Amino acid sequence: MLNTPVATEAGGCLTLTVPGLEALGATAPGTTAAGLMEPDLTAPGFGAPGLRAPGFGAPGFGAPDLGAPGFGTPGLGAPGLGAPVLTATAVTPAILVETTCRLCGARLHRTLIDLGSLPLAGHAVPVGSVDDPRYQLHARVCDTCSLVQVGNVPGVEPISGRGSGLSEDFGIGGPDARRWFEGLRKRLRPDAGSLVIEVGCNDSGLLRQFQASGIRVLGIGVPGNAAEAGVPIELGPFNAETAMQVAVRHGCADLVIATDVLPRAHDLFDLAAALACILRPNGVLTLQVPHLLAVLQNGQFDAFRHDTHTYLSLQVLEHVLRSVGLRAFDAERVADHGGSLRVQACHLAGPHAVRPGVKAVRLAERSGEALYAGFGDRVAAARDEIGEFLRTRGSAGRRVVGYGAATRGAMLLNCCGITEREIVAIADADPARHGRLMPGSRIPIVALESVLADPPHDVMILPWPNLAQVLPKLMPLRQLGTQLWTLLPRIARV
Ligand SMILES: [Zn+2]
Repeated sequence: MLNTPVATEAGGCLTLTVPGLEALGATAPGTTAAGLMEPDLTAPGFGAPGLRAPGFGAPGFGAPDLGAPGFGTPGLGAPGLGAPVLTATAVTPAILVETTCRLCGARLHRTLIDLGSLPLAGHAVPVGSVDDPRYQLHARVCDTCSLVQVGNVPGVEPISGRGSGLSEDFGIGGPDARRWFEGLRKRLRPDAGSLVIEVGCNDSGLLRQFQASGIRVLGIGVPGNAAEAGVPIELGPFNAETAMQVAVRHGCADLVIATDVLPRAHDLFDLAAALACILRPNGVLTLQVPHLLAVLQNGQFDAFRHDTHTYLSLQVLEHVLRSVGLRAFDAERVADHGGSLRVQACHLAGPHAVRPGVKAVRLAERSGEALYAGFGDRVAAARDEIGEFLRTRGSAGRRVVGYGAATRGAMLLNCCGITEREIVAIADADPARHGRLMPGSRIPIVALESVLADPPHDVMILPWPNLAQVLPKLMPLRQLGTQLWTLLPRIARV
């Protein structure tokens, strides 16, 4: 049970204190203005819109025209805009519950799904480590702006890169990257003087294709495949302030790519404003996000994360884009990652005509509105069914192994209460994860080779959206009699 935070103001700083927690030593590092407590503008006791920067807190998307070409207000939400600086002297290890919408400031009354108290899904944990801390994961729907969102967990940031992280690869690769690239090149006709920027480029399949065509490219975000491929990279946080610096150093881009970036942003407006800031007047912003409609349609409870703050629809994206001086002119639903939404946007005065895809996705979302009601009940039934299925196989003496030590799998195992009793090991191709444990379920992660050498009765393929890529690796097992299964969107033998 959380104590009610107490706000005190001194020296121009507003301090949020949770009574009683100091005695527990629960002081979080980095809880300064730019740090963990920034989102606590919406914590209990801070519910009144207006603590955010002017125009960003009030319902109705009354944001200023930050996206107009040449906009240059640095540091949205920074002290210079009149918002008080928030610091924290203490935080709770439990989640600080969001009671107001992070987008429009309205009170949140409606639950989409409450998954309860779960460990963070993003890290493989060492053997012998203490139990993983658990945090509430509760997705709510805003009745005013329709944004689906979860509360912040102090200190949780998107996990990227390699090592013990379990992040899924949200980069685009293979034939789809080629098709996407060809479509963009046809639309933009970039030349040697063009610049393509990708934000959050942990894969850069698109950037590398533009680079191979002799077009100047720049990645912003975490180092990874892009850096290894020789793509120039700007590291560090990307927001409205740093976007200005990027624009000064490199110029604005004809094409800005942002794949799975917006859902992880604490502040959608700030990131959208940053994207608008680095886009040339006639340029195109191409966004891809996991599509809320696909989550609802397929009961994807494994898609929810503590570090994914929002679950987006075209309806919400269009609101956000318009608030920063952009507009969507094309949209399509694509199969990536269990169902994603790909949107092309430009400045309000940009030359791009609206394509039929925008209307088609709007209609699809409108027809899916009934899926919100009862989503939690449908997921609860699916969780029970999966748990029962695995327990039955275990009690029948079958040896069951999972494949894919990634965040989706971690979420599914913990949501269904699966442990080593039901699944003896999780096979994974990444050696950095071997010898560690899945968070929460504490199931050991092993090399795929060890499973191939000792075939189990059943293999549960956890990253089911990547079935086509995973199946070839497991075909030797199937030929030896192992049964291969997916558990979502429904239990199915493959
Ligand atoms: Zn809202």
